[in-house]
Amino acid sequence: MSINWYPEINYKLCLNCQKCYHKCPHNVYDFIDNKVIVARGNNCIQGCHGCGNLCPTGAITYVNDQTGWTPPVLNKKIEKENKKMVIKALGGCCKKSTQNYENVCLAVKELGLDVEVEHVSDMNEIMKLGVMATPGLIIDNKVVSVGRMLTVSQAKELIERFGKNSCCCGNC
Ligand code: SF4
Ligand code: SF4
Repeated sequence: MSINWYPEINYKLCLNCQKCYHKCPHNVYDFIDNKVIVARGNNCIQGCHGCGNLCPTGAITYVNDQTGWTPPVLNKKIEKENKKMVIKALGGCCKKSTQNYENVCLAVKELGLDVEVEHVSDMNEIMKLGVMATPGLIIDNKVVSVGRMLTVSQAKELIERFGKNSCCCGNC
């Protein structure tokens, strides 16, 4: 039995690039007043995600879609987020720990990475992470340095060695 299936555009995400309008062979879309609109939803083919797969921002979803499909561009974004490195600089009560944190931040910046360094200064929290002496450094859940203040170049070396996605090319 056919269901009422047609695309919907989230205009908060839409760039008005017209890719969906040009892609659809069934004349579902119109371009009116400089805006792409769903004009003939009834023409849409149930199960087709052609325009949604092409949309660069994930602005298209489908009414009554129960296939589990999600816009590929959003899936990629989530994948990238999951691949993001997590860096924790531990210690906050002494000069060395503060300097360690600042050096790690500088190392991240010099490597051109889009990573926020978390500064963990609560001793109970630090012990829960399995570290008994500060300053310390954790990269992607691995304790990589304990009880010493890292220079910027030492921090860079550790990030490059232990970080799961230390490449800044954006294509990995
Ligand atoms: S492809 Fe996506 S961004 Fe481009 S006009 Fe259609 S809905 Fe908007
Ligand atoms: S899902 Fe397919 S048939 Fe429906 S509007 Fe998009 S390209 Fe056209």
